[in-house]
Amino acid sequence: MPFEPLTHEPAVEPGQAREIARDLVVVPNLGVDLVPNIGIIGGSHSVLVVDTGLGPRNAEKVLAFAAEHARGRRIYLTTTHFHPEHAFGAQVFADEATYLVNSAQAADLVHKGPGYLEMFRGLGAPVARALDGVVLATPDVVYDDAYELDLGGRVVRMEATGRAHSKGDQVVTVPDAGALFTGDLVETGQFAIFPWFPPHDTDVSGSRWIEVLGRLAAAGPDIVVPGHGDISGRRILTDVREYLELLRDETWSRRDSSLPEETIAAEIEALMIERHPEWEGRDWIAKGVGCFCADHLKIAMG
Ligand SMILES: [Zn+2]
Repeated sequence: MPFEPLTHEPAVEPGQAREIARDLVVVPNLGVDLVPNIGIIGGSHSVLVVDTGLGPRNAEKVLAFAAEHARGRRIYLTTTHFHPEHAFGAQVFADEATYLVNSAQAADLVHKGPGYLEMFRGLGAPVARALDGVVLATPDVVYDDAYELDLGGRVVRMEATGRAHSKGDQVVTVPDAGALFTGDLVETGQFAIFPWFPPHDTDVSGSRWIEVLGRLAAAGPDIVVPGHGDISGRRILTDVREYLELLRDETWSRRDSSLPEETIAAEIEALMIERHPEWEGRDWIAKGVGCFCADHLKIAMG
């Protein structure tokens, strides 16, 4: 989610897909804003698509690519969370695939989907065009905590992490390949995305996010496919957690002073940019500070 209006098409490029493990393909985002990394995981009788791209035209490209890859196998779709570039193409899969998500994400789609559709339409003409014709899809199967999907000779595990980057985050694990799809719980090469938009959306929780990343790292995946940015090893889980911990500590150590939040945010922004000069998404630092300030307040008030 950028703040500046986008001037380019947020186009998914299936032609750039690559196999990262046996019958496990990723359509990489190639560093393009509002394009997610998309996964296609195959078993003997079924394939699972992870995330749709932004809007129906991108999702049509993803579905066509997935159908070609599937060669007659049954198709499932899941989405890592409800944000538009991850889930707002699901309608295209309606007649071709079974759409499964966790219950918290299904609730996000209903309660927050329409507001995010409006907000994203304001992010420039190419984004508004990509969103043209979006109808928010209703999942076919909804689970609460975890779901094991048998693709034939390969079982993938879908798991609701609890509130972190959003209320309904979900991760997808492919145990035989040691692969983990994290959605926006992890990005490489950019500051963690905090969709902190009070009073409209305050679901993101930095404190819970830190806990979730600790649990994911303990599981020790070999391959981590982030929501955006390059595919990495397990080290990225620790790198992101350490960034969030530093953001928290720097925020909380200033929070009790009489400094206004904007001053705190500016100080921490300078510090983080100095530490990670090559990372993109600098606007998300101040959003993260706002989120941690609120977390601190909740803790102080018990
Ligand atoms: Zn997101």
